[in-house]
Amino acid sequence: MGELKDGDLLQVAGHEYLVRIAASTGRKATARVRGAQIFVRVPSAAEPNLRRTMLSELEAKLQTMLSDGPPAQKGMQPLQFTDGQVVEVLGVKYAVAVAQGVGTESRGTWYRDWIRVELAAGLTAAERTEHTGALVRRLITARALPIVTKRVRELNDLHFGATIRRVILRDQYSRWGSCSAAGTISLNFRLLFAPPSVLDAIIVHELAHTRHMNHSPQFWAVVRQAMPDYDAAERWLVANAARLGVQRPDDIEG
Ligand SMILES: [Zn+2]
Repeated sequence: MGELKDGDLLQVAGHEYLVRIAASTGRKATARVRGAQIFVRVPSAAEPNLRRTMLSELEAKLQTMLSDGPPAQKGMQPLQFTDGQVVEVLGVKYAVAVAQGVGTESRGTWYRDWIRVELAAGLTAAERTEHTGALVRRLITARALPIVTKRVRELNDLHFGATIRRVILRDQYSRWGSCSAAGTISLNFRLLFAPPSVLDAIIVHELAHTRHMNHSPQFWAVVRQAMPDYDAAERWLVANAARLGVQRPDDIEG
């Protein structure tokens, strides 16, 4: 690869990072990785040769640093659920009940507004946490996906009229959502714990990508036309990202 440029896609260990380059007043070139983006700052005073050297040294460091995958995935915790916890999903409150079972498999079921988990016998504390988390996630996803899918279709019909093939919910640490050229809208499972208006905003953001696959002024004009109050949702996400265990993405998608 030649000199890193703003807007480049840097491939490291099977992951793709969008490179953003800005000028700084400092004396050194720096890079911060946030989710799938790398924010590089290069001293504006650097001569072209020095700038080139700085960028190639930085690129070499990034290659080493990212050889194990995106840092956002390291040390980030899955959402944890415990007995007696009340969770608010899409604005509706549910209680989590975790009981010790005697079987060899952990199970989870919905019982009215309760998420009931029965843990297998003989699990370690870490396994209990992991099984509870996985089962609660699966149950919440199963209940929420049809509702979220319906909402995506409503907002699409109202503002975009695009072809949406599939809606998926994924538990992610560093992105709120994405939109593929093939018409798959992917939303972060953790958005289910945000106010419904915030979920709407991210859905609108992703649907707007069916018009513009970038974050150009034209893209934002489409977003704001469909959702004039988009900024309030973004402020909520910035303020609550840590609570939801999502590394604060500089761009709303990270
Ligand atoms: Zn976007």
